Amino acid sequence: MSKKILTRADVAERAPATMGQRHRVVIVGSGFGGLFAAKRLAKSDVDVTLISRTSHHLFQPLLYQVATGILSSGEIAPTTREILARQSNARVLLGNVTDINLANRTVTASAFGTERVTEYDSLIVAAGASTSYFGKDEFSHDAPGLKTIDDALEIRGRIFTAFEFAELEDDPAIRAEWLTFVVVGAGPTGVEMAGQIAELAHRTLKSNFRSIDPTSARIVLVDAMSSVLGTFGDKLANRAASQLTDMGIEVWLNAKVTDVDDRGLVVIDDHGETNRIDSRCVVWAAGVRASSLGKILGEQSGAVVDRGGRVEVEPDLTLPGHPEVFVVGDMMSLNRYPGVAQVAMQGGKYAAEQIDRRVRGKAPKGSFHYFDKGSMATISRFRAVAAVGRFRFSGVIAWLLWLFIHLVYLVGFKARVTTLLHWMVSFIGRGRSARTVTHQQLVGRRALKSLELTQWSPPPPAPPAAEPTEARTENEVVVP
Ligand SMILES: Cc1cc2nc3c(=O)[nH]c(=O)nc-3n(C[C@H](O)[C@H](O)[C@H](O)COP(=O)(O)OP(=O)(O)OC[C@H]3O[C@@H](n4cnc5c(N)ncnc54)[C@H](O)[C@@H]3O)c2cc1C
Repeated sequence: MSKKILTRADVAERAPATMGQRHRVVIVGSGFGGLFAAKRLAKSDVDVTLISRTSHHLFQPLLYQVATGILSSGEIAPTTREILARQSNARVLLGNVTDINLANRTVTASAFGTERVTEYDSLIVAAGASTSYFGKDEFSHDAPGLKTIDDALEIRGRIFTAFEFAELEDDPAIRAEWLTFVVVGAGPTGVEMAGQIAELAHRTLKSNFRSIDPTSARIVLVDAMSSVLGTFGDKLANRAASQLTDMGIEVWLNAKVTDVDDRGLVVIDDHGETNRIDSRCVVWAAGVRASSLGKILGEQSGAVVDRGGRVEVEPDLTLPGHPEVFVVGDMMSLNRYPGVAQVAMQGGKYAAEQIDRRVRGKAPKGSFHYFDKGSMATISRFRAVAAVGRFRFSGVIAWLLWLFIHLVYLVGFKARVTTLLHWMVSFIGRGRSARTVTHQQLVGRRALKSLELTQWSPPPPAPPAAEPTEARTENEVVVP
């Protein structure tokens, strides 16, 4: 089959769709880009199929609150199926997209060992990004990243269990290891994590233990760069750094992590001096890498894929030579737009609107332009920094602004109400509503990895039943 490259006019011509079907829009990903695209198509004369490897939409900016026991996972991760339940033209499928064939216009996804090929007329790829260890993937074993609900629950398990083990430990040196928490990466996620671990130790757990003093916990924030919250500008970066220090957090800048193991990590400073920090709980909040689907798209279309795995798109977010394929959110590279939720939401909506216009035979909109509504990061209760236009805020005002904005953008009324209640418990009181930790949360990721098992691969065949080696009595139980 010859590979015909379609022009925008060709796509518009195909828009009413072939063989009596409606125009088929496939969306990959149920994050900010994917969900906002799907919702924008609610009134369009198209059939939407949203394929995602998670059955929920995740509000990543509040993941650190799940990791530190303030919120439960349901509040920030409502099911996509429920969100789109009333949108009759939308269908939600669980699946890990493993291939996209631009020539045949198909998307291949697998789930639990089954494979499904879905055809599209228009495609929106919004598969986001994952944690990057800058080529040192082995660090992930002992320093989980914070990108998914699984990550957040594992980190919650590690933080709370570290205090439990410290309580059990008699050796002061080992106890100090359990009470040392290191967060790698001083961007918004790292700052928020470090701030919340400090709040947990200093307020929530203060009188919960008998042998240890949780307020003596050591919290270290490490970054290879020379400032915290570098993207917020010098003024806010300095304020954030001094607020962190006031909270007793050690801020190690110009410190590059060179090794991580189960008892701590090693950093090298800009003078070449190495230092080891002994810690049983390291959180990696340092880097992101765009979905590997970007590479697949680049190979087939000739689009440039940058060092972070992001696809360089046309000004209208389409793939070069493929006006029927849009790439949005953390996966796309255009005008040096940052990898933030607003870029993904606005990109998803824009792509959906372009498709709607094509289907209705209307002229396309002009190029995509990101409208920057500002950025903010919390440090702890009553402390935050915010940059909105030319205005800079810090302290309580920034914190209240942060609370309000995050509440507005959370999906669903129920989630907003329960989140507000849990915030009152944590910020007005000292409690945390989601401190439950399970054994599976602690060991699940590493156990699955050692078995080379994922949700997407079929379960291994059951081992043959062991033959009894000796006669048993009637009441003997065979433990598999
Ligand atoms: C901890 C954290 C805190 C953050 N805080 C902020 C903040 O305060 N403010 C802000 O603006 N931004 C913040 N961000 C960034 C923001 O969340 C992202 O920019 C945004 O989520 C990007 O949206 P997206 O749709 O591109 O990707 P995502 O929201 O990551 O969604 C990707 C979707 O694709 C799915 N997927 C991935 N691969 C596949 C595949 N192969 N097959 C099928 N489905 C797949 C995923 O399951 C997911 O549903 C934060 C990010 C993190 C991780």
